[in-house]
Amino acid sequence: MPEGDTIFRAAQSMHRVLAGHAVTKFETGYAHLDRVDVDTPIAGRTIEKVVSAGKHHLIHFSGDLILRTHMRMNGSWHLYRHGERWWRGPQAMRVRLDTADWVAVAFNVPVAEFVTPRQLETRDPVAQLGPDLLGETFDRDEAIRRIAASGPRAIAMTLLDQRILAGIGNVYKSEVLFMSGVHPETPSSAVPHVTLERMIDIARGVLQDNVVEGSSPRIQTYRNLRQLNRASEHDDSLWVYGRRGKPCRKCGTPIEMKKMGIDARSTYWCTACQRLSLLK
Ligand SMILES: [Zn+2]
Repeated sequence: MPEGDTIFRAAQSMHRVLAGHAVTKFETGYAHLDRVDVDTPIAGRTIEKVVSAGKHHLIHFSGDLILRTHMRMNGSWHLYRHGERWWRGPQAMRVRLDTADWVAVAFNVPVAEFVTPRQLETRDPVAQLGPDLLGETFDRDEAIRRIAASGPRAIAMTLLDQRILAGIGNVYKSEVLFMSGVHPETPSSAVPHVTLERMIDIARGVLQDNVVEGSSPRIQTYRNLRQLNRASEHDDSLWVYGRRGKPCRKCGTPIEMKKMGIDARSTYWCTACQRLSLLK
């Protein structure tokens, strides 16, 4: 599942080349989008902006219409020049949007719908999002309040809940908990306030680090100081994620892995660096 920074980066790239330009062609594999296009054509509208909200990707068109997509596990947006070869076949195309210079293609996005700005603010899932770690404004106190109000639920599950805090996916979940020294199964309400403050600052920091212009799309939270170049292996760029059985980078204890929650998402941690706290 893409993390918040991946969606942010995709929206940023699309905004840079598409904003202010008119749509010259719109195609979709989804009947419910096609119906809107037939009734109120998308071609001819101007793309006003492309932004992200948590893991939702939003394309704002002139005439008060927004295309909201959500990538879930396998969806992605790609930008091409006209005539350029696509990385996937047309059968994976769900939405295609042309301007004079660019072709934007959404592959395998499972969620795509047109909404009005008003719907986005009221009944849409975007309206239900918690404070957005990559948002222009971010309310840390509100995020802490929501986490603490999650009661006995394991902190690892709470961090993935986009209604509590928007932007953390499965990789960052394990990384942020390790960097904060918090055991993933600690009840949400048992994490001390000062630790939550630090955890959220760490989460914002790593997400922001990973959306720096021109940085690689690979997530990096760990940097080996002896390496002059960017870590060449995925494994070298993270503290714990994907490192089951390998020695902890701080203390050498083998990294643990467990599948948690109804979606059985893999959680990685170090038993020595992240002690379970059951205190309220
Ligand atoms: Zn350790």
